Amino acid sequence: ASFQELDLPAPLLNTLARQGLSTPSAIQAATLPDSLTGRDVLGRSQTGSGKTLAFGLPLLARLRGGSARSRHPRALVLAPTRELAQQVTDSLAPYARSVGVRLATVVGGMSLSRQARSLHQGVELVVATPGRLRDLIERGDCMLDEVGAAVLDEADQMCDMGFMPQVTAILRQIPADGQRMLFSATLDRNVDALVRRFLQDPVVHSV
Ligand code: AMP
Repeated sequence: ASFQELDLPAPLLNTLARQGLSTPSAIQAATLPDSLTGRDVLGRSQTGSGKTLAFGLPLLARLRGGSARSRHPRALVLAPTRELAQQVTDSLAPYARSVGVRLATVVGGMSLSRQARSLHQGVELVVATPGRLRDLIERGDCMLDEVGAAVLDEADQMCDMGFMPQVTAILRQIPADGQRMLFSATLDRNVDALVRRFLQDPVVHSV
């Protein structure tokens, strides 16, 4: 199989080729046909398996052309740590650029006013850690009422780090009818609770 066989916008296919990627990884091959149609996804997979593009490509295909209003992002990725959030942004940046999607990383330990400013300018996709995102929501710098797709990356780590209350508070503010994707290396009881609450009839893949 190749990326060409998937229903991806041409600019994303061109960027994949430019990055030297021709064949989907196992988790990408398993989930992309469903995630590209908007279905919920539960992916059990490790770091290094290619899951960033497994959720990133369907998000960017959906968001292409831009159009987010100031302070109203249209998609959200939650990650447990600054480093992971930054990695997600860095990996997706060339793909986002190719389809005219604006990205913001919203994490602690970096200038809050700069992050607020970029949200005010309008970004389609926010990649965030839960604590800083909550701060920006409380300040009125970010509203989640137009988020049509949300991803929980490394959900088990987020549970282990005690982010569950913040994550569920954030998820409650997202419209109920959007697409949801959850990726986790393990599925323990905490993650399972999140899966039952967060995902609707997901396609499940263990890779
Ligand atoms: P991730 O698991 O998303 O952190 O990806 C780990 C590494 O795999 C990154 O350096 C990606 O560039 C690379 N990668 C992702 N998808 C593919 C693919 N289909 N073929 C080859 N490498 C890939």
